This record gives sequence, C-alpha cells and structure tokens, in this order.
Amino acid sequence: MRTIAVDRRVTAWTAAGLLSCVAYPLLGDGTLAGAVLYNLFELLTLVVVLARVRRNRPEDRLGWCVLAAAVGFRLAGDVTYEIYRQVLHQSPFPSPADVFYLGSCPLLVAGTLLLTRGRVGRDLAGLLDAAIIATGLGLVWWVLAIGPIAGDSSIPLLERLLGAAYPGCDLVLLALVARMLTRSGRPTPGPALLAAGIGSLLAADVGFQFVTAYRPELEGVISVGWLLSNVVWGAAALHPSAAAPAPVRTGGPRVGPGRLVLLTGSTLLVPTLLFVQGALGFPHLSWLSIGVGAVLLFVLVLLRMSGFVTQVQRQARQLRDLAMRDDLTGLPNRRFFEERLAAAVAAGPAQVALLDLDGFKDVNDRFGHAVGDRLLAVVAQRLADRLRGDDLVARMGGDEFAVLVTGASAEAMAGIVDRLTAGLRPPVEVAGQELLVAASVGIADGEDTDDPYEVLRRADTAMYAAKDQRGSHVRRYAVELDERARAEDRLGAEMRTALDTGQFRLVYQPIVSLPDARIVSVEALVRWHHPERGLVNPADFIPVAEQNGLIVELGAWILRTACAQAVAWHATHGTAAPARVSVNVSARQLAEPDFADLVAEVLAWTGLSAHNLIIEVTETAVFRGGQSVQTVKDLHQLGVRIALDDFGTGHSSLGLLQTVPVDTLKVDKSFVDTITMAGRHAVIATALIQVADGLGLTAVAEGVETAEQATELHRLGYRLAQGYHFGRPAAQPDFHDAVSGTGTVAV
Ligand code: C2E
Ligand code: MG
Ligand code: MG
Repeated sequence: MRTIAVDRRVTAWTAAGLLSCVAYPLLGDGTLAGAVLYNLFELLTLVVVLARVRRNRPEDRLGWCVLAAAVGFRLAGDVTYEIYRQVLHQSPFPSPADVFYLGSCPLLVAGTLLLTRGRVGRDLAGLLDAAIIATGLGLVWWVLAIGPIAGDSSIPLLERLLGAAYPGCDLVLLALVARMLTRSGRPTPGPALLAAGIGSLLAADVGFQFVTAYRPELEGVISVGWLLSNVVWGAAALHPSAAAPAPVRTGGPRVGPGRLVLLTGSTLLVPTLLFVQGALGFPHLSWLSIGVGAVLLFVLVLLRMSGFVTQVQRQARQLRDLAMRDDLTGLPNRRFFEERLAAAVAAGPAQVALLDLDGFKDVNDRFGHAVGDRLLAVVAQRLADRLRGDDLVARMGGDEFAVLVTGASAEAMAGIVDRLTAGLRPPVEVAGQELLVAASVGIADGEDTDDPYEVLRRADTAMYAAKDQRGSHVRRYAVELDERARAEDRLGAEMRTALDTGQFRLVYQPIVSLPDARIVSVEALVRWHHPERGLVNPADFIPVAEQNGLIVELGAWILRTACAQAVAWHATHGTAAPARVSVNVSARQLAEPDFADLVAEVLAWTGLSAHNLIIEVTETAVFRGGQSVQTVKDLHQLGVRIALDDFGTGHSSLGLLQTVPVDTLKVDKSFVDTITMAGRHAVIATALIQVADGLGLTAVAEGVETAEQATELHRLGYRLAQGYHFGRPAAQPDFHDAVSGTGTVAV
C-alpha cells in the first residue's frame, strides 16, 4: 500500500513538473510570470529533496543533503539572475548569480556520487569505458566550446574565465553521466533518475552554448531543459527505490551493442574532427588539445583491451577447469586423466590402476539412480582420501575410476591398490541403505610402450580378467591376458557361425534316485562340435557367450531343444523316460526381462508341462536381486521348478533360500569328492542335506564318481545324485538300463 501511495506521489509530481515545462515557454522567457513559475517550481524541488533528507536512512542522508544544497544553489542563482534582469534591469552576466551556478556543479557531482556509492564492486572496466566516452565527447566539447572562449583575448578576462568555467563544469558532469551509464549490473530507478537529471541539465547547458551564439530567441526553450532536471530530481527524491538499501552489483560490465556503439563513436570522434576540419576548413582546431586527447584515448583503449584479454584468459581457464572435471564426483575426468597420463608416460615409469565397481548396475536398478550417484560420490571421496598428494584419481565414466601413480614400483602400486580396495570395504550408507562396495582392479604400467592409450587398454584388459577370476579381484596386466582375450574374441566370432550352422548339440546326464539308481530326471548340457577344434567344452565357451550376449540366443535354442526332447522321450519310452528335464540358465539370460515369457512360450510350443521343467541357476546370478530374482519368481509362478546349481561355491547365502523360491539344492562336486575321506570332510555335505531337509527342499549330490560316495551320500540322507558313476552325459541316455546294473547302491 505504502509503495503504491509513494508511486502516486511520483506520478503527481511528474505530471505537475511536465505541465510547468509546457507552461513556461508559453508564459514567455524573461516575463515576470515565467520567472515566478520557474523559481517556484525550483523551490518546490528543494522542499521535496529536503523532505527526503528527513525520511532517509542515515547513510544516505548526507547524499540527499548535498543534492539539496546543489538545488538550493541553483535556486539562489536563478533568483539573483531574475533580480538583475527584472528588478535592476541590468545584464545578469557576469553577476553574483554565476557564483551560485558554478558552485552548484561540484555539489551536484558530490551528491550524486554519494547517493550511488557502494552500488558497484571493483569495476575498472566500467570506469575505463566512462573515461573513453568522457574523453572523446569532452575533447569535442573542449575544441568547440571551451578552447575558443578561453583563447579569445578580445573578451574581458572575467567573462572569459566564466565563459570557460561553464563548459568546464559540463565536462565534469559529462564524465559523471558516462560513469553512471557504464556501471555494471542492472540499472535501478534511483541512480537512473539521478543520471537522467544530470543528463537533462547537461543537454540544456550544451544547447545554451549554441543558442546564445546562433539563435538567442530560443533561450526560453533551453530553460525547459533545466526545469526538467528539477522534475527528475524531485521524482528521484520521491521514488521508493531511492530509499532501498543500495544493492552491491556483481559481475563484470556487460558489453552490449549499445555500449560498443558508444565506445566506437567516442574513439572515432578525433579522426572525425580532423576529417571535418580537413574537408570544410572548419572548425578551427587546437592541435595541442587534439594531440593530448588522442594520446589519452589511445592509452585508455589499450588499457581496456588488456582488460579484455585478461578476462578472456581467465574465462578460458575456467572453461578448461570445467571441461576437465566430472560433475557428479568433483574428480578430474577422463580427458584430464589422459592428458596427465600422456605426460607421465613420456616422463618416466607410471603405474595405472583401473577400478570398476562390481554389481553397480544392480544398485542402480534396485535403489534408483539417485542412490547410485551418491554411492559413486562416496567411492570417489574414499579413493581421493587414500592417495598421496601427487597421485591422481579420476572418474573415467560410469562406475569406472582410474588411478595414476608416477615413479612407483609394481610392488608399491600393489600396496596402493590394497589400500584403496580396503578403503572401499566398509559399507556405504546411502538413503538409509547399507551398501557393500567391491571393485575389480586391473593394473598396468608403461613398460615397453610410450603410448598412454596402450597403458589404459592394458589396465582395462587386466580389469576384465580380474572380474572373471575367483578370489582376489585385482589383476596385473600380462601378455597372456591379451592372447586369452584374442582367443576369446575369435571364439566369440566363431560362435555366431556355429549357431547359424547348427554346430551345437545337447547331451543329457541322468539324475538318479538313491539307493535304487532309477533315473528320475536328466540335466541338459550343451556341447559344441567345432569343425576344426573338435569338441569344445561349455566351461570354455559359455563365459564368452555370456560376455558377448550370444548366450541369450544360444540359451533359447537349448531350452527349446531340451523341452522338445523330453516330450519326444515320453512319446517313445513312456514311463521309462525321465519325468523331468533340467536346463542350465546363465545370469545374463535371467537378467532379460522377458525370459519367463520365453519359457512359457517354449512350454506351450513343445507341450511340456511346467512342473516337468527344472531351471538351474547359480547363486551368483540371483545374489544381487533385481531383475534376475524377479525372473526366477515369475518362473516359479509358471510352475517351473528352480534348482540352485553348484550350491556352496558361490555366496552361499542362506538368506537367499528365503528370498528366492528354490525347490532344489545341487550340492557341488567339491563337497562330494571328499566325502569318503577320513576326517571331517563330510561336514559340509552333512550340513547341506540338513539345511535342505529343514527347508523342505530336495538336494542333489553332484559329481558322484564312485559307489562308495553314493553309499555314503545315501547314509547321510541324500536321495538324489548325479555323476559319472550313474551315467555320463550322452545324446541318448539308455533309460531302460541306465546304470548297467553297477550303479545300484549297496546299502
Ligand atoms: P553344471 O551345471 O554344474 O553341470 C555339471 C557339470 O559337471 C557338467 O560339465 C557335467 O558333465 C560334469 N559332471 C557330471 N558328473 C560328473 C562327474 O562325476 N565327474 C566330473 N568330473 N564331472 C561331472 P559340463 O557339461 O562340462 O558343464 C560345465 C558347466 O557348464 C555346467 O556346470 C554349467 O555351469 C555350464 N553349462 C553346461 N551346459 C550349459 C547350458 O546348456 N547352459 C548354460 N547356461 N550353462 C551350461
Ligand atoms: Mg547344472
Ligand atoms: Mg553343478
């Protein structure tokens, strides 16, 4: 409400002021009525500004006081002027009025500066721009107005001095306006109004110089300019923004097109003057002032340019910094790392470690990207905290980090990597979740190469090997790794052809009941009949197929073939055929969101009923949850049975048995191998059958090779077994004489 009221006052004041501006020339310059109107309005301005002094914050009070004094001085000058003209009928020039007029100039400058101080920070560029504009325009003003008067010896000395002092004052005001125009930041109404007041005064002064020389009858019109400056100052005093705390403006000056035009125009004024003089022989130029002015302008422009150069260099540095940093973690990014690595490799021995977080994708899938991002930030912090000053850690992208250590031996680097991985071990708490972090690390050095990309590639190869290996997840690069990778690449490429030309076959291994060794089901196992290599083992090509994704296509074929085979056996062997078929499914297949649909389709297509299919999954595949567990649940929903393969060799998390719907535990061969040895070797096999019994699961003992093992397993409580003792995997197992009589367990 208050602001609106004040704004209304501004409007009313401005309207009254503009009316006076129109009325004044109508009443006539030099008439008594005109003089009364003019001086009365000036008095009103003084009253308004003084009222402002009373209402203001203490720190601005001085500024308004000085401005009021300036208006007061002008009023005193005008009254004196009119007394000389109207009452004494004498020429008012020169007269005591000039003392007041000239005295008001420094007061006006001081008042304006006081009222606008504190609104800028250090603004050297703005100051230089103001100086350039003021020097250019000022030079013209000097050459045209001040110089001729000051140098004209025919005029009496006092008049000459006063005649030069007025344009001199205007020169100072011009500099002030230029300064206010070139301030950085958005202009606010208060200072803008003050500047407009001075601008109007300045324009009237300049106009006056010309009018008195060429068109004296227009003097009245010029007075309107002075009157207008009073209107504007009064409005500034009434305007609410003038009472607001002075905002400190930040940021450099904006060099927009307007300012560029102003600056260009100002610097071109000197050559323009010379051109006009040369072409028209007018005006008469003082070479000394032109020379001094030109040199001054030149120096100012140079200073401004150097400011630009520094600014551009600083911004280039900032841009470079931004381009070299990873936003999420604040660590240096890949580009920075590669630059530093190139320098390090060129300078001497350098060690590089690439760290890739294990199972980071699952964290993202399960808890969302925000949690994943937080985790990355914590990991980055931990890595950075554990490095010495000149070692470098960078985020290479995704969940991959790289460490560069110069001048360290292989042993020292291994120690550093130990320290880093140990630092990652404590659980990370993010959004109420306790997350375990582990990383696979590949290490390489610049031995016999000076190519930084080669060093990175080697570290990468080592890192992938580290991911695949059991136990420690740290690996140093060795040439064999490349050979292995190349061999795997070749194998991967050949696998495509193998799929297209039908080189894969399935064999089936019986799973029998104990003690009667009757075949209850078979496990389908894939074989690759390679035209040159001969038989390739699944242990050699399944991991490669998992990596290049071909396992998805191959797995679908296996599933279809195994199910179709089970149905075909039923048709030919009747009840002698195994009731169920077990199919191995890898982690990559489970992670496919539509895998359960595929299984349903295959069942429908082959006519096998769901409860006759067993899907074997490994603990590791379902350990981290996410889509894999969902797939298993969907399969279970279909009626398909789920077996945990190689149980006891992976994470062996018993909690898993509660979160994943499991029907069967396949106890790994390594626990069966030792079962008949003396000592405590049967402990695990015993414990596992108890767990299975306790949870109501069936247990299958894998890799049974001898009758003794079979007997012992039966004694421990195992009722299902699989192994060479009962039958090797074969394309067509003999269901009628499955174990050739030898497999029957003697109890
Ligand atoms: P697995 O699923 O644990 O399969 C059992 C492996 O143990 C088979 O090796 C089988 O031939 C072998 N085995 C069975 N009884 C004995 C025994 O008494 N002694 C010994 N020493 N070995 C025995 P295979 O066929 O070489 O398969 C190795 C692994 O390859 C499998 O382990 C499975 O993880 C994977 N695999 C095999 N076929 C497939 C498949 O069709 N799909 C997928 N995803 N993986 C498969
Ligand atoms: Mg299996
Ligand atoms: Mg197994």
